[in-house]
Amino acid sequence: MSSHDDHAVPSAPLRRILAAAHFAAQHHSAQKRKGLAAEPYINHLIEVAELVAASGDPVDTNLVMAAFLHDTVEDTGVTRDELERLFGDDVAGLVMEVTDDKTLPQQKRKALQVQGAPKKSPRAQTLKLADKISNLRSILSSPPPDWSTQRKQEYFKWAHDVIAGLATPNPRLKEEFDRTYARLGELQGK
Ligand code: ZN
Repeated sequence: MSSHDDHAVPSAPLRRILAAAHFAAQHHSAQKRKGLAAEPYINHLIEVAELVAASGDPVDTNLVMAAFLHDTVEDTGVTRDELERLFGDDVAGLVMEVTDDKTLPQQKRKALQVQGAPKKSPRAQTLKLADKISNLRSILSSPPPDWSTQRKQEYFKWAHDVIAGLATPNPRLKEEFDRTYARLGELQGK
């Protein structure tokens, strides 16, 4: 293989991933992360997509697309039909597997995530893991200013409960989740 070939990326998957990234960036453009740094929301989506892409070989194109899109239905009012029309049924289905029902109160939604974890498809489990890793990292590096230490610890423990319920978690991401969760003690006194 020449060095040129080493850098060649198949066009179609890359274009589809970038279309999903662009769509997500547009729809989340007014949204910031809840943390002190108030990062643009797309930073979270890129991090989740990167984790998903690193989770296995070869890269699962549709799952990386779903990573970019995973919060569009919950946070921006995009519909499943729209995702299906633009990105196909597989991507839309993956997004819906990790979408909470926002008509329910938050405590109920959190309980449902724990209860629903064992029923998730293996690919949705990978997406869940990546999302939770990103959320724990951001609580460590840029916590929401109005969250007490206890609230941060409770979020860590709830995320741990969700991930513990996954039937067949991706080993690479499970390891990274455990590493991140183990930093729980750093929240003390912060
Ligand atoms: Zn997310």
